[in-house]
Amino acid sequence: MSWTPTRDDFDQYMVPNYSPQRVIPVRGEGSRLWDQDDREYIDFAGGIAVNGLGHANPVLLSALKEQADKVWHLSNVYTNEPALKLAKTLVEHTFAEKAFFCSSGGEANEAALKLVRRYAFEKFGEQKDKIISFRQSFHGRTFFTVSVGGQPKYSEGFGPVPGAIEHAQYNDLESVDALIDDRTCAIIVEPVQGEGGVTPATPEFLEGLRERCDRHQALLVFDEVQCGMGRSGELFAYMGYGVTPDVLTSAKALGGGFPIGAMLTTTDIASVFQPGTHGSTYGGNPLACAVALAAVETIADPSLLDGVKARHARFQQHLETLNQKHGGIFSEVRGKGLLIGAELSGHLEGRGRDVLAAAIDEGLMMLVAGPSVLRFAPSLIITDDEIDQGMESLDRALASLAE
Ligand SMILES: *Cc1c(COP(=O)(O)O)cnc(C)c1O
Repeated sequence: MSWTPTRDDFDQYMVPNYSPQRVIPVRGEGSRLWDQDDREYIDFAGGIAVNGLGHANPVLLSALKEQADKVWHLSNVYTNEPALKLAKTLVEHTFAEKAFFCSSGGEANEAALKLVRRYAFEKFGEQKDKIISFRQSFHGRTFFTVSVGGQPKYSEGFGPVPGAIEHAQYNDLESVDALIDDRTCAIIVEPVQGEGGVTPATPEFLEGLRERCDRHQALLVFDEVQCGMGRSGELFAYMGYGVTPDVLTSAKALGGGFPIGAMLTTTDIASVFQPGTHGSTYGGNPLACAVALAAVETIADPSLLDGVKARHARFQQHLETLNQKHGGIFSEVRGKGLLIGAELSGHLEGRGRDVLAAAIDEGLMMLVAGPSVLRFAPSLIITDDEIDQGMESLDRALASLAE
């Protein structure tokens, strides 16, 4: 008996913590998706910055299939070849000397936050526990990570939040100076704030955080779950800024759609995690690591990264044209590489969800970051034709919402 689920089944059977669009995509290839009625869409959302190499990428598919025939899971009682290869590759391509694997970005940040607390505890004593993060930041949905995140709507109503967490203003070093002292054990920051509205850090800001962390013997954590893995036009965004963190977290595009997260750090800092200190059943899962290895090797290619910068320019140009054509509908277009935000203004201010729905009607899947920012996070290898076609859809969607 065959039965085809519909969107109504979501309301009937799923916990209502999401409100998905009406269409249900069933298949994808590159930057195109098809729904249950075989209607085609251009994908500017990339699974929220996850499908860095598009849908059904042949390189990732063959890595997955090859590993699927060998072994899926072993637990951390044994290590495995894909995990070791992935760790070595990440170490060779970054500042890091050690890697820890888990299954999501929130988990990677949870590990990072526990690590910085533990490091301070062992090296300096229990009074050094303060974590500074930023308003509008997003670090995941575990209780520790929503508490550190700078959007109170995600942490309120769940009981007492963990202590010694303070929030400064993004891109504002003075607000950091007002909070930082020798009790500070770490600062955690997204080099480009994603969920909070696609806001890149200024170079002076990240340089200033590095300098202040050094002065107060605090660790600097870069959450590159969204802005890393090629999205900024560098393998990791810190490389473009020339500011090196002590701990870096990755996920999203790391697995290209297969769930995996990673925390990267130095040998010295990693040493405070000993057997039993922290763990994850699926961390280092061979299937996930095999796919991620293929993703890292593909994305680290300088020509792919140059392609991201070229695509950025194409998006930027299209958005400027649309802005002129539709009477200054964007008050600002910002971002790095293929993480771009267009702030809606005028009669569309606060109406990101309406644009999203209108875009779907015109054959385009896209994202928002907050109520008023259109967010573009497509595949890093989206073609010029796909960009142009998606922008024509967006043009029609904006026209359909004209006053
Ligand atoms: C998405 C995201 C996370 C959370 O990742 P999950 O895989 O959903 O747990 C953390 N930090 C940033 C910057 C993100 O964009």
